[in-house]
Amino acid sequence: MLEEIRVKMMKRVGQMRKFCDSWIHDFSPMALKVLTDHTARSMKCSIEWNSDTGYEILEGQFRHVVDLPRQTCSCRAWMLKGIPCPHAIAAFHHKKLNPMDYISQWYSRDTYMKIYSHFIQPVLNLKIWPPSTNPTVIPPKVRNMHVPGRPKITGGRKQMNL
Ligand SMILES: [Zn+2]
Repeated sequence: MLEEIRVKMMKRVGQMRKFCDSWIHDFSPMALKVLTDHTARSMKCSIEWNSDTGYEILEGQFRHVVDLPRQTCSCRAWMLKGIPCPHAIAAFHHKKLNPMDYISQWYSRDTYMKIYSHFIQPVLNLKIWPPSTNPTVIPPKVRNMHVPGRPKITGGRKQMNL
C-alpha cells in the first residue's frame, strides 16, 4: 500500500506542475473563479462610505463592515479565504482599486510552484535492496488475554469483611 502511495505521489508532483503551466493568470483558476463569483454578488450590494477607509455594505438584509487598511470584513470570508469577499470588492470598486491585487499570495503561481518544487526520487525494487545490518525486530510474545468480566473463584468461597 505504501509503495502505491509513493508512486502515486511521485506522479502527482509532475501532474500538478503541468497543471500550473496551463494557468493563464498568475493566480490559480479556483481563486479567480471565487473572485468572479464574489464580483457578481458585489454588484447587488449598496455602499455607505464614512469618507475615510470604512464601509458599510448592505447585501440583502445583512449589513457588513469593511475595513480596507486592515483587510477585514465582518462576514469574515475575506480573512478566512484570503480572497476579497463581495463586500470588500464593492468597497474596492468604490475606491477604484483592483480587487485582484488583494488576493492572498497563497494562491499565486510562485507559491504553487514552491509547493511542488520537491520531486520524489525513483526507488529500486524492494527485492534489489541490500540486506540490512541492523538486528531483526522480533514481535512481542503472545500472551493469553483474560476473559472480560469477574474473575473466576477457584477453591472455596472467600468471606468478605465488611
Ligand atoms: Zn464580507
